[in-house]
This record gives sequence, C-alpha cells and structure tokens, in this order.
Amino acid sequence: MAVGEIDRLVQFFARLPGLGPRSARRVVLFLIKRRESLMLPLAQALESAAHEMRNCAVCGNVDVTDPCAVCADPRRDPSLICVVEDVADMWALERAMVFSGRYHVLGGALSALDGKGPEDLLIEGLVERARSEQVTEIILATSATVEGQTTAHYVAERLEDANVKISGLAHGVPIGGELDYLDDGTLSAALKERRTL
Ligand SMILES: [Zn+2]
Repeated sequence: MAVGEIDRLVQFFARLPGLGPRSARRVVLFLIKRRESLMLPLAQALESAAHEMRNCAVCGNVDVTDPCAVCADPRRDPSLICVVEDVADMWALERAMVFSGRYHVLGGALSALDGKGPEDLLIEGLVERARSEQVTEIILATSATVEGQTTAHYVAERLEDANVKISGLAHGVPIGGELDYLDDGTLSAALKERRTL
C-alpha cells in the first residue's frame, strides 16, 4: 500500500463523527496490522451494507428490506407512531426496549441556521400515515433542543386535521438533550409519562 493510499484512508476516517486526524491515523494503523482478521471483513461488510441498505418507504428507517423489519413486524402496535428526528434516535428507543409501536423518522429537524425547511423532512408521509384509521396516537419524540421543539410544533400543526391524539415526551429529557445520548431509564420514563400536546 502506497503512502498516498494510507493518507487517503486516514482522510476518510477523519471525516467520521468523533474522529480527528490523529485518531483516524490510529484506526488505520490498527486496521493495517489486522488486515485478515479485521480490515478485509470490515471492507466486505461496508460494501455489502452500502449496496443493500435502503430507506424504508413507510417510516424512513434504514434497513436491508423495504418496508423495514420494524414496519413489517406484525407484533408491533400499528396504532402508535413515535416520531423521531434521526435513525439514531429510533435505535436508542429500540435499545431501551420501551416502545412497541411503529416509528417515523423525519430525517432531521427544522433549522433556519442549517437551511432545513419542512420540504427537507419526511413530513408529508407522516401526515398520510396519520390519516390511516389504524393510527390513534402520534408521539412527538424530537430532541429537547430549540430545533427539535420547533419541529414538534410544526408537525403537531400539520397533524391538526388528522383524527389522532398527539403527545410529546415528558420531562426527563434535559433541555438540549438528544435522545441518542439518554440512558435507557430516562428514555423509558420520558416515554411512559408522555403528555398530550
Ligand atoms: Zn419502516
């Protein structure tokens, strides 16, 4: 492997969240030393994931199937939809095993600063799902940030005409808190004690 190629790898890894150039170099060196046991399997896993991953047309989750495993699971309660900003938030709720309904992943939050408007989020799909007779409650589980709360208000307004109960997570989500960073207990309490908006 030429030095240029190693540099290229380092640059790729340095773009990952939580990694700077220094840790990226460590990761690359670590991989090079474990070419057979780690680097090749990782490369193969990345390639197959890159080809097979798709967005669920129903909820926006990423999975190798469309609809995703959560949407396709008949044991999950179709009357409840939990609205989250990102797939990471959905995964956090799944890890905590506190929710047995379905999800809707918006794909971010409204943000004037980042130039993210309603048309950039999967809101239309949610409005449509809310009109389905099966759905009785929509839980807005966006982050406790200004953007997250703005998004929740906007989505709630858009759902006004749908005949569903709209609720939000209870206190317990600290201001500025993103779901992905909460411990399972806090997340569970916030969901259980959700309030009607
Ligand atoms: Zn889905």
